[in-house]
Amino acid sequence: DTFNKFGLSEEIKRALKDLNYQHPTEVQEKVIPSALKKKDLVVKSQTGSGKTASFGIPVCELAEWEENKPQALILTPTRELAVQIKEDITNIGRFKRIKATVLIGQQPLKNQQLELKQKTHVVIGTPGRVYDHILKGTLLLDNIKFTVIDEADEMLNMGFIDQVESIIKELPQNRVTSLYSATIPEDVEELTRKYMNNPIEIAA
Ligand code: AMP
Repeated sequence: DTFNKFGLSEEIKRALKDLNYQHPTEVQEKVIPSALKKKDLVVKSQTGSGKTASFGIPVCELAEWEENKPQALILTPTRELAVQIKEDITNIGRFKRIKATVLIGQQPLKNQQLELKQKTHVVIGTPGRVYDHILKGTLLLDNIKFTVIDEADEMLNMGFIDQVESIIKELPQNRVTSLYSATIPEDVEELTRKYMNNPIEIAA
């Protein structure tokens, strides 16, 4: 089985070929068609399953280069993961010239603010720093159409879940949300009930 069946644009297919992604992984098989149809998803999946590309491919496919304000927001528990996701998105979106910006703590706000003034399609960050930028008015959310909450159980363990909720409350209503978590503790379940729209549950 190949990526051809998903109806992806030539630019994305060319990037996947360059990355040598020939066959979709199980989580990609299950997630990509529903994500492209803009369904809310709750995905139980582990690192190493190919989960980053399972949201990275739809995010890059649906992103419109012409738009200057961020269209996708990806929340992740750690700075390392944010940097890794940026790299994957940049590779997948290479031939659409998709621009991704990382917002993480312990780095100067100033540089991030300057980056946010330029065209950027995808913002990836840890909850604390993302919320800082929202409060300062340097991260504009009114064009966000796609939100990914990655490793939600880890964000709960690390004490970030209230900040995640504060961020979600600021997002536009007509957006798609995908939540990824290895396990679904009660507090994560509650987020899905409060802020997601009849999410499809996927285990892979
Ligand atoms: P992840 O679970 O997102 O951390 O991905 C695990 C690893 O699998 C990463 O190194 C990806 O580059 C790689 N990968 C993701 N999707 C595919 C695929 N369809 N074919 C081959 N490698 C992949």
